[in-house]
Amino acid sequence: MNLHEYQGKEVLAGFGVTIQRGIVAKTAAEAVAAGKQLTETTGTDWHIVKAQIHAGGRGKGGGVKLAKNLQELETIADSIIGMQLITPQTPPEGKKVNQVLVAEDVYYPGASEPSEFYMSILLNRATGKNMIMYSTEGGMDIEAVAEATPHLIFTEEIDPALGLMPFQARKVAFNLGLSGAAFKDMTKFVSALYRAYVGSDASLFEINPVLKTSDDRIIAVDAKVTLDDNSLFRHPDFEALRDLSEENPVEVEARAVGLNYVDLDGNVGCMVNGAGLAMATMDLIKQAGGDPANFLDVGGTADAARVETAFRLILKDPAVKAILINIFGGIVRCDRVAQGIVDAYKNLGDAIQVPIIVRLQGTNADIAKELIDSSGLNVLSATAFQEAADKVQEAIS
Ligand code: GDP
Ligand code: MN
Repeated sequence: MNLHEYQGKEVLAGFGVTIQRGIVAKTAAEAVAAGKQLTETTGTDWHIVKAQIHAGGRGKGGGVKLAKNLQELETIADSIIGMQLITPQTPPEGKKVNQVLVAEDVYYPGASEPSEFYMSILLNRATGKNMIMYSTEGGMDIEAVAEATPHLIFTEEIDPALGLMPFQARKVAFNLGLSGAAFKDMTKFVSALYRAYVGSDASLFEINPVLKTSDDRIIAVDAKVTLDDNSLFRHPDFEALRDLSEENPVEVEARAVGLNYVDLDGNVGCMVNGAGLAMATMDLIKQAGGDPANFLDVGGTADAARVETAFRLILKDPAVKAILINIFGGIVRCDRVAQGIVDAYKNLGDAIQVPIIVRLQGTNADIAKELIDSSGLNVLSATAFQEAADKVQEAIS
């Protein structure tokens, strides 16, 4: 689950990470009120207005702007809220901005120049360790830094059983070229950030930029936070952070009925029981010259109601030219599934305009095949993997 910047910063702050303070606003009037309130604690009436969408590169797309007084704050907030923001990370048509974060300006002049660093924490699956990735080249596209100047990106691997050792935090501060107060503050920042990563069961933190202010404080100016969906049951309070308007509507619907559905770009819908078989089925579709339109694991209990719900979800995608149902009858009997398919087909009536290829294997597969073949519906049965692949190819070509 992805969080908005303002939500990510709240999670960070909850673990003692210093953040750029801000208040979220849904209207220009709310933004002005937020600005006034912030000024009381920060002392500055300069504010940065930041579009809250689930995509980065907002600065480049005109979604981050500095306001030097309340009038400017109102005008800027008014122009950003409701805009269709296009950034290198949004779909081509952009994303609608429903809210902005009004934040204190932290790039004020002082004894030294402010500097921007890059820092992320993620799991290195190859080593089974958490990894802090960081760079002196903050505030820009890290992919571009990796391409042009890979030696400016450092990594620090952390054994999850040991946690972040103090020497590792010092190494990060050292490699970032810091000294004095900024060095000390960076070690505190890194420790708190790692604590937040583990404590929130995140799968990704990306803080770009981490700022060294002109008075040597280290703060998180941006926050991209991805929480591990499989850990959400441990954090019931995080569920409120989900923004459904940022998610694929069919996926939202599927989750509500307990189906594991991921939308994809292809033309062959698939309905499979078990994630492993679902992946193998997607390979099969590719091999047959098609492209999977979705990943859908209907789970062990593929009864008629579930099959019908799954049909309805798959049919919402206009790109679907054929549907491949590949179910292994282990826990569930194949004839039950076949009956479910036939019933669902009859219930859906005209909604199904595409050929359906069904491969049922396992308990009572022969009875199931007979049920399908004698149903008189536009459903083709297959027993072998290759046979299913051939029928899919025939259906889409
Ligand atoms: P992104 O473009 O989506 O990654 O959004 P960021 O939160 O990283 O903000 C983009 C840029 O806005 C940053 O790299 C900064 O250069 C700038 N910015 C952020 N906060 C401030 C601020 O308080 N004052 C000023 N002057 N610029 C800021
Ligand atoms: Mn950023």
